[in-house]
Amino acid sequence: MINISLSILASAMEGKLICHESLHTCEVNNLVTDSRALMQEKELQEKELQQERSKGAFIALKGPNFDGHRFVKQVVEKGCQVVIVEQKIAEIDSQKVAQIIVDDTRIALGKIAHYVKQQVAPKTVGITGSSGKTTVKEMLAAILSRLGNVLATEGNFNNDIGVPLTLLRLEPHHDFAVIEMGANHIGEIAYTAELVRPDVAIINNIAAAHLEGFGDLCGVARAKGEIFSGLSKDGVALYNKDTKYTNKWQWRLIDKQVRTFSCANARFTDGPIDADCYSENIVLDKNGCAQFDMQSSLGRCVVTLTVPGSHNVCNAVAAAAAAIECGATLNDIQLGLAQMSPVKGRLNIHHLKATTVSTEIKLIDDTYNANVESIKAAIVLLAGYSGRRILVLGDMAELGSDARSYHQEVGEYAKEQGINVLLTLGVLSQNTSDAFALKNEAISEHFNNKNMLEKCLFSLLTNESNQEQSTQILIKGSRSAHMEYVVEDIINWH
Ligand code: ATP
Ligand code: MG
Repeated sequence: MINISLSILASAMEGKLICHESLHTCEVNNLVTDSRALMQEKELQEKELQQERSKGAFIALKGPNFDGHRFVKQVVEKGCQVVIVEQKIAEIDSQKVAQIIVDDTRIALGKIAHYVKQQVAPKTVGITGSSGKTTVKEMLAAILSRLGNVLATEGNFNNDIGVPLTLLRLEPHHDFAVIEMGANHIGEIAYTAELVRPDVAIINNIAAAHLEGFGDLCGVARAKGEIFSGLSKDGVALYNKDTKYTNKWQWRLIDKQVRTFSCANARFTDGPIDADCYSENIVLDKNGCAQFDMQSSLGRCVVTLTVPGSHNVCNAVAAAAAAIECGATLNDIQLGLAQMSPVKGRLNIHHLKATTVSTEIKLIDDTYNANVESIKAAIVLLAGYSGRRILVLGDMAELGSDARSYHQEVGEYAKEQGINVLLTLGVLSQNTSDAFALKNEAISEHFNNKNMLEKCLFSLLTNESNQEQSTQILIKGSRSAHMEYVVEDIINWH
């Protein structure tokens, strides 16, 4: 974070600064929302500790299950000299510690983030969509880092707290900011887009995710469309032409520059392609990583991906189209994408040791998250492999009143795609298992206990009657399903 004096901090947050006048010019260069981050300072060397103490501020956020105000006294005792709170704390000595009193700490966090963004003023790309935001972010960051210094969202910090915290990490040397923007309710992206003010705003796709907060897919599309209203002056709106419900945001684009992208494998029709950037001629290698031709305003080139799955072609085209708007060349795009490292929990391939029944076992960890579209994308990848294909699914969360039928849809899709074995874990995924099992010769088993599921999986890998050349296992589920523990257990068991 940049250095900000207390008086500027208070005025950017529209808060009231309470402290001795001599502290007004003191500077802050770190804003902490988690009191434990300040507690860890204990472990720093005394000298570093002093420096950190004089520069870190604590902002007391409130959530459904916590209230940061409870920790204010504790952080002050640990040496923090600036606290941002909603009510004045009488016991604090204003000679030594500054308090900034604001109406709402969450909004104050947004205001200071917006201020920092304006001060640093990097070229900024905001990314939203139902699936692939993190992947597009990583791809775009990989391309843009060839052109300059990039600040990208860390992990999945994409909500109304994560986005401002990301902007606060901006420093003067950053040329680009690549910001992931997620939402689970209407208005969340409108809020974060105002803070981010992207120069390029991407809607990657629209699918059944977080339906509880949006009602239906039209609601999802409307909510994602909010990103375009936050565009900077002369900003570019970029969206996926293959996705449905694009009409839900057209009214926001009347006075905007608009670009589109399209992916060969997702197009609805075979007619002429009406998009600014698109892929053609996708070929997958034996790990499922794509090579394809990309046509863009800069011309045509061949792109090779290091991450598996044909859906990643769509993500790559989105990232490439945004990179072009930021000044990247085709060469930057090719090299950036070729050097991108895999994103944890998204289709990470592990090659396991052979067992007596399988000469080759590939374990694909896609456990980071799941919705209907992303499970279908994973099934397409799995179905494309040879040998025995085992799909292990946990429940999909936040799908609202139609959750059962979405789970069935996934089971039917797995059956259509020729998956050989489906193991499910949870409650709702019983529906996936039932739909897969109907009139199907393939094996389907449902479990509500992880150990039982793993036992079944191990026996499939070691039982002589399952003699196979090679086995491919794909594991996936919503974040709350924690299917990564199954991945860990299989790797350790091996
Ligand atoms: P979240 O909303 O959890 O932040 P995200 O939009 O950031 O998700 P990723 O983390 O990139 O998405 O990917 C999540 C899952 O979606 C992964 O399992 C991945 O395989 C799948 N996925 C990624 N891109 C696409 C796409 N374009 N279409 C369908 N599925 C996708
Ligand atoms: Mg994400």
